[in-house]
Amino acid sequence: MDVTAIIKKHLYVINLPENDKAIIVNLTASLLYFSYFCLAYFSLHIPAALEVTNAHYLYLTEVVSLASIFGLFVLLLLILYFRKVNPQSTLPSNIQLYVIFQPLAPLAVFNGIPQLITGLLLGILPLLGLILFNRKHVFYVTCIMWVEIVGLAVAVSSRLLPNAPLYVDQVKPAQVPLSFLLVQILMSAPIAAVVYAMGHSLMQGIVLRENKILELSRRDGLTGLWNRRYLNEVLEHEIALTHRNLYCLSILILDLDFFKKVNDTFGHHAGDKVLLATAEVLLKCARTTDYVGRFGGEEFIIILPNCDARMSVEVAERYRKCLEAKEIIVDGQRIPVTGSFGVTTMLPTNTCQYNMQVCLDDLINSADKALYDAKENGRNCVKYRTLNENVQVAL
Ligand code: GH3
Ligand code: MG
Ligand code: MG
Repeated sequence: MDVTAIIKKHLYVINLPENDKAIIVNLTASLLYFSYFCLAYFSLHIPAALEVTNAHYLYLTEVVSLASIFGLFVLLLLILYFRKVNPQSTLPSNIQLYVIFQPLAPLAVFNGIPQLITGLLLGILPLLGLILFNRKHVFYVTCIMWVEIVGLAVAVSSRLLPNAPLYVDQVKPAQVPLSFLLVQILMSAPIAAVVYAMGHSLMQGIVLRENKILELSRRDGLTGLWNRRYLNEVLEHEIALTHRNLYCLSILILDLDFFKKVNDTFGHHAGDKVLLATAEVLLKCARTTDYVGRFGGEEFIIILPNCDARMSVEVAERYRKCLEAKEIIVDGQRIPVTGSFGVTTMLPTNTCQYNMQVCLDDLINSADKALYDAKENGRNCVKYRTLNENVQVAL
């Protein structure tokens, strides 16, 4: 059993529905407040602990923790109810934010030693809240919490409230039992776990989003095929590989025939459907190692790594036949579609002579010229041009 994989899988909470995230946070916060309650309750019943801790603080912790646990329990029921009847509702999770954040203010002001834990809570919780929940409400609750903290601090400093840190003033650090400190650190385990879990989720979320953005930046908006920018990158890479591995690289450029007429006769909307259908045909015919892209308008390109001239013409012919045979029906009408193909092949020797940009331009220009030949030749056919020489050869 791969424990790490299971943990990773289950820690991915960022994309969970809002109510599920709220339940996780609810249970974690309840556990945290329960641990605070236990700490306070047992400390009040252990004479040795009472000698070094402040009873005021412990009573306060007891009351605040119990009230929070009760509030969170009521909210848990509310979340479960909303999850069932109105899964889209974010109301309970927003209310929960207020319930979780507010006890932090008195804890922050009255905490003595566990300032590190308090700092973690005050700093990280709003950050995690911003990631997981409604940003507007997280902003509000954080503002309210800080107003409370400042208010409480002013009240304590002007002696309106008693100064009640966890440890009594006279106690020197050496007098605080180590076990007592360790228990407190252990008490923060739920928070540490949730901070880790959410941090992990955050990182996964960021990586996923980055990948998604990268993918979107490489795709054509209409057809979902690779776009021109990415295809140029691919071509540069493939040209380099061709040179290094001493194999051939072929490209096909396809331009739909009389596409303007399709738009004029059936409308722009039908034209878009034809482009989509063409993309579908090309993807269906393509091998997994080929790159199918839209170069713009009704022009497509297929990059065939490790494919020689003869093979590339055969492949183009296969694409041409598939496209011709495709029944494209829009609004009940069949739209006949054919395409003209220009094919060219780069040999490893070609790449040695030029720099990358020249190579790339040469390759595209050569395929473009072949395409022009195909148009000249009556369309719906495949034509090949040898790179650089721009001479049409019989294959
Ligand atoms: P040829 O056989 O010589 O290629 O004729 P053609 O009509 O296909 O050539 P032309 O390049 O003159 O026309 C291309 C048309 O493609 C012009 C433009 O209206 C249309 N077009 C370009 N992009 C889109 C698009 O995204 N959607 C639609 N519906 N039409 C597009
Ligand atoms: Mg065109
Ligand atoms: Mg055209």
